[in-house]
Amino acid sequence: MKDGTKATHAGRRPKDYDGVVNPPVMHASTILYPTVEHMRSERTTRAGDSVTYGVHGTETTFALETAIRALEGGYRTRLQPSGLVACTLPLLAYASAGDHVLITDSVYGPTRAFCDGMLTRMGVEVEYYDPLIGGGIKQLLRKNTTVVWVESPGSWTFEVQDIPAIAEAAHTVGATVIMDNTWASPLYYKPFEHGVDVSTQAVTKYIAGHSDLVMGSVTCTEEAYDRFQRAQQETGICPSPDDVFLAMRGLRTIHVRLPHHMQAGLQVAEWLAGREEVAEVMHPALPTDPGHALWKRDFLGASSLFAFILKPEFSGPEGQAAMLDNMNLFGMGFSWGGFESLLIPIDPPKIRTATQWPRAGRAEGAVMRIHVGLEDVGDLIDDLDEGFARLRGA
Ligand SMILES: *Cc1c(COP(=O)(O)O)cnc(C)c1O
Repeated sequence: MKDGTKATHAGRRPKDYDGVVNPPVMHASTILYPTVEHMRSERTTRAGDSVTYGVHGTETTFALETAIRALEGGYRTRLQPSGLVACTLPLLAYASAGDHVLITDSVYGPTRAFCDGMLTRMGVEVEYYDPLIGGGIKQLLRKNTTVVWVESPGSWTFEVQDIPAIAEAAHTVGATVIMDNTWASPLYYKPFEHGVDVSTQAVTKYIAGHSDLVMGSVTCTEEAYDRFQRAQQETGICPSPDDVFLAMRGLRTIHVRLPHHMQAGLQVAEWLAGREEVAEVMHPALPTDPGHALWKRDFLGASSLFAFILKPEFSGPEGQAAMLDNMNLFGMGFSWGGFESLLIPIDPPKIRTATQWPRAGRAEGAVMRIHVGLEDVGDLIDDLDEGFARLRGA
């Protein structure tokens, strides 16, 4: 089955619910057992998952977990109440006091904050590495390295990582390779075909797709699953069934939305690359991007989140404010992956420790990050064009 069919069918069993197309939203804490014998034995749903207590999931949760797993691959998916929990819980699961973990310098900022905060406080040694290190990571691996964290491309600076080379090296010391796969979504990068052991998604972004909920998912290989599921059980972390239902609604159309996001994003990226104010567009699907060859080798498509660097003479704070404060269609706010376009100023040097920004070969200047939504592309380009006119006039 192709992804479009999986996205529309996986996790649904209408015959079990009087023909109702979508699985029911189960609000549950207590689950009643009919007999002592049932209570003492494993209780399972028609899908084969155990239903014992609301915290551990119901058929509502299992349905979305099944659908995400069908698209992303791997052995099993567990839902989390936010994308950030989908990043922090695997770190808690696979790293222990005295361990050493390697984290890409391009990591999502709040994941970095967790590593520098709670993870360090728990006695884990955190080391950041150059996202472009590739197989060279073997020089940094130690006997006690238990996690290698990858995120490709990084959601601020868009370096594409050589994940198969990193994973091969990491596995020589038995480290677990965890990937934040949010940028590509489960459609455009298949982590388990490239050596990843655990994949995290901010479901909040393209899977939910409508800017109305926060959720995460963690998908594991069979070998990695037991350890993760114990962490999930021990912490009692679980999502709300109403949010799961909404996220499932988003997932059913992801294969229709993503190709549009990709095409529209590329059109805007190419237009930006031709602007006099822009020094460089950081978008791996552009042939001029330093990560393009790796992107082409490993990815099946591109999402519509990317960034561009303004020439120094157009990088003044007044010009940026004149542009960004008055956009007609582009909103200014965090997150992305919804149906609407966003444009924000970002400051990569603040979140780097292992590498310098700008990198050698990359332009210097103010950086803006853009998420291209599902509006008409011509209208979006007009909005940007007027924004650049304000920037120049300020
Ligand atoms: C947004 C995001 C997250 C966290 O998701 P939330 O649901 O906002 O907590 C994790 N990783 C990346 C790359 C993200 O962009």
